[in-house]
Amino acid sequence: MCRARVVVAPEGQAFSNCAHIKALGRPYDGPDILENVLCLCPNCHIRFDRGALQITDDFQVIDTLEGRKFADLYRVGEHHIDVQYLGSHRSRWPGRMEAWLTGPN
Ligand SMILES: [Zn+2]
Repeated sequence: MCRARVVVAPEGQAFSNCAHIKALGRPYDGPDILENVLCLCPNCHIRFDRGALQITDDFQVIDTLEGRKFADLYRVGEHHIDVQYLGSHRSRWPGRMEAWLTGPN
């Protein structure tokens, strides 16, 4: 989302998180499959998990607290993200995205 590369060693190794879009476990029961995951830095991961960042079906990342576009989701060609999981993620915070989805953007 933010394109940050979190370098954790002098040799340049980097760290990232695997974030499930539709959360695993109850009550969400999201699947542990590639179509339901994002590769995020730790900051974006926690903001996404708490609904402060959400993603539209056309892969715009929205800062729901500021009410503005944060970024276009950077995607790698062979990683298909299933938009049904994005909708499921947004539905956990009813109302946060309505202004964005219905307003003049
Ligand atoms: Zn990030």
